[in-house]
Amino acid sequence: RTADAQYTFRARDLLIERSPVQQPPINLEDLKFGTVFTDHMFHVEHVVGQGWGRPAVKPFGLLQVHPAAQVLHYGLCCFEGMKAYAGVDGRTRLFRPELNMARLRRSARRLQLADFDPQELLACLKQLLMVDRSWLPEREGYSIYVRPFIFSSASALGVAKPARSTISILLSPVGPYFPTGLKPISLFVDELNRRAWPGGVGDCKVGGNYAPTIQPQVEAAQRYGTSQVLYTFRESHEHPDHGEFEECGAMNMFFYMEQRDGRRVLATPALTGTILPGVTRDSVLQLASGWGECEVQERPITIAEVRQASEEGRLLEIFGSGTACIVQPVGSLIRANGEVYRTRFSPDDDPAGSLSSRLQRALLDIQYGRVEHPWGVAL
Ligand code: PMP
Repeated sequence: RTADAQYTFRARDLLIERSPVQQPPINLEDLKFGTVFTDHMFHVEHVVGQGWGRPAVKPFGLLQVHPAAQVLHYGLCCFEGMKAYAGVDGRTRLFRPELNMARLRRSARRLQLADFDPQELLACLKQLLMVDRSWLPEREGYSIYVRPFIFSSASALGVAKPARSTISILLSPVGPYFPTGLKPISLFVDELNRRAWPGGVGDCKVGGNYAPTIQPQVEAAQRYGTSQVLYTFRESHEHPDHGEFEECGAMNMFFYMEQRDGRRVLATPALTGTILPGVTRDSVLQLASGWGECEVQERPITIAEVRQASEEGRLLEIFGSGTACIVQPVGSLIRANGEVYRTRFSPDDDPAGSLSSRLQRALLDIQYGRVEHPWGVAL
C-alpha cells in the first residue's frame, strides 16, 4: 500500500495480469445487450483503516464475496454506464468520461463507500480498454459498454458504514440497445409507482433505484406491450393531470413541442433531485441550445401540457436520452386511464430531418471521431 493509499489508489501502480486464454471471436449479429464480456476486468479494494490495495487488470472471472457482504443484503452498491467507441481514425474514444467518474464518486459518497480520485480510475479504465482493444467492434452502432461499479464487500450484517469497498469495471461489446433500432417505441406512463421522490436518491446511480423498477416494467409490458416505463411524480393532493413527467428507468426524457404562438420548445425536466443528471441529457441540451432553432428549457412538464399539445397537433417529438440508446424516439405515451398521446412527427416520416435523429447523428459523429470535439476523448 502506497503512502496516499488512504485517499486513493493510483493508476501508476496498476498491475496487469493477462488472461492465458482468449475467447473465440463474437458474432455481432446476435449480440444481446450486456451478455458478453471481454477477457479482462479491473479490480481494486479498500479497507477502512488500511486504505486502498493495488489496482489490477486481471482475467475476467467470478468475484468472491462473503455471504454477509452488505451489498447482498442492503443493496450497498452504485454503478456507471459509459461506452468506448472505435474511432474512424483507429483510436478508441470515450465520451465525456470525466462526468461518469464524477457521478460514480458522488453515488459512492451517498452510500459512504470509499472515496477515490476519479482521474485515477479513468486512467485505469483506459489501460483496461487498451488490454482488451481487440474486442472493440468496428461497426457503426456498436461499441464496448463500460460498467464501473462499487459495492460494499464488508462482511458484517450491521447496517453501518461499509468497512470494505470493492471497485470493478466490466467491458461488454454491444450493439443497438433497443431491438427496434431507431424506430419509435411507446412508453407506459406510470402514475402509481414512483422511481424517486423529493429527499430521495433519484439523482444518484445507486443499485437501490433500479431493483424496484423491474416489476412496473414487467407489468407494463404484459398489459400495454411497452418496453419501458415513464415515471411521473405529483403531490398526493394534486389532480392526476398535474402529475409531472420524470424520466424512464434508464433514460432522461425530452419533449419537443410547438407553442400556440408557433414557437418551438425543447423541454426536459429540471434537475431537482429526483432525476439522474444524464451525460447524454447534458450533451443534448448543449447541442440543441447551440443550434438555436428552438428554445431549450429545463422545467416541470405536466401530463396536462403534453396531452393538450398532443390533442392540438403540437407535440412534435418525444425522445429519451442515455448512454445505452444515445437518443431513442418515442412515438406514443400510454396512460392507465386509456388515453394515448401521439407525436405529430415520427422519425419514420422524415428520418433525417427529425430533431431526435439529427441529435443522434451529431452525438455519434463525436463519439466515432468523425467530428473532432472536446467531448470525444481518444485514448
Ligand atoms: N436516467 C437513469 C435513471 C439512468 O439510469 C440513465 C443511464 N445512466 C440515464 C438517465 C441516462 O444517463 P446517461 O446519459 O448519463 O447515460
